[in-house]
Amino acid sequence: MDESHIEGDLVNILFTEEQIQSRLGELAAEIEAEYEGKDILLVGVLRGAVMVMADLARHFSRHLEMDWMAVSSYGSGTKSSGVVRILKDLDTDISGRHVIIVEDIIDTGLTLSWLVSNLTSRAPASVEICTLLRKPEALQMSVDVKWVGYDIPNEFVVGYGLDYAERYRNLRSIGTLAPHVYS
Ligand code: 5GP
Ligand code: MG
Ligand code: MG
Repeated sequence: MDESHIEGDLVNILFTEEQIQSRLGELAAEIEAEYEGKDILLVGVLRGAVMVMADLARHFSRHLEMDWMAVSSYGSGTKSSGVVRILKDLDTDISGRHVIIVEDIIDTGLTLSWLVSNLTSRAPASVEICTLLRKPEALQMSVDVKWVGYDIPNEFVVGYGLDYAERYRNLRSIGTLAPHVYS
């Protein structure tokens, strides 16, 4: 494996750095307009949402706060089961706060449904979701996702926070991996 050219492992680039940044700029503007006069707490879901959080937050021209949660969903390999364990909880008391969950990707939405009901039980003023990517299956979930960067086909993508075996998170673009990477 040529460690110095990981971008070359992408067989198909779905979104370039420029596309991602411009979409995050649009989302930040929409969110700003919606939350005028209210304070915002962005809750990033580790580890995939690190890049989205960092860039989305920097597209805001107003104050906001950021906190993080790490959850692990029990499941086989690439599919989650909806059974979730908190690995790292929020440091913030969210009661009375306007919370926006920031995600990299929603596939089945099982992890997110669990997270929304968990956070809702802490009596926040509101809970909404912003995700950069959404897969088709997520359209069937009961939770309403207010802000979606892009709807994508049912393919396994990496880059911009999204990993394959903990690699490729540091790519600036998002794409699918060449078959040789899996073998
Ligand atoms: P869900 O509970 O929505 O099925 O699971 C979402 C999580 O599965 C994401 O946060 C991510 O960790 C992982 N995931 C789902 N689809 C993909 C994908 O296409 N690529 C990568 N790298 N991870 C994915
Ligand atoms: Mg995630
Ligand atoms: Mg992963």
